[in-house]
Amino acid sequence: MVKYLFIDFDRTIFDTDSFYNHLEQAVLVDQIKDASDLNLAAFVYPDTISFIWNARQAGYLPYLITYGDRTVQQTKVRMSGLESLFVNVFYVEQGSKGDFIRAFLNSFVSCEDIAFIDDLPEHINGVRTRIPQSKTFLICRPGAKRAGQQCDGLQIVESLSAVIPFL
Ligand SMILES: [Mg+2]
Repeated sequence: MVKYLFIDFDRTIFDTDSFYNHLEQAVLVDQIKDASDLNLAAFVYPDTISFIWNARQAGYLPYLITYGDRTVQQTKVRMSGLESLFVNVFYVEQGSKGDFIRAFLNSFVSCEDIAFIDDLPEHINGVRTRIPQSKTFLICRPGAKRAGQQCDGLQIVESLSAVIPFL
C-alpha cells in the first residue's frame, strides 16, 4: 500500500538558523539568488537521510514541502543536495500546506496513510484541520529559533529519529 510522507525543509531537515547566521541578513536574498556553487550539505540535520530511508522502508513515498519565496527555497534545497531523496519537492508560496496536500492527494487515499512533519504549529494545525486522520508531528529541534512555541495538543518530537516508531 502506498503511503505519503510530507516533510518540511527549514528547521525540520535543514538547520536554517545556523545557515542564516553565516550570511548577512541584509544581503541574504541577493546572495542566495546568485548562488550556484554553494554547498549547503553541512547544514542538513544528520538524521535526515536515514529517516527518509526508514520512511521508504515503511512504505512511505517522501515529498518535501516548503513554504516561502520559491527562488530562495529552491536554491537552499538544491544546494543542500537533498532533491534526489524525494519523489518530488513542492514549493508553496501562498495559502496553506494543508490545502496544497489535500488538493495534491485529490481525496483518493486513506487519511491514515499520510504523515506530516513541520516545525511550525500553524502548518501542523492546517494539515490536521483539512486532513483530520493524518499523523502529524511538530518537530522542535533543540536550539532552533522557534522551539518552545505554543503547541498544546500536538505530538512533539525533537528529532526525526523519534518519528520512526510511529511510521
Ligand atoms: Mg520549517
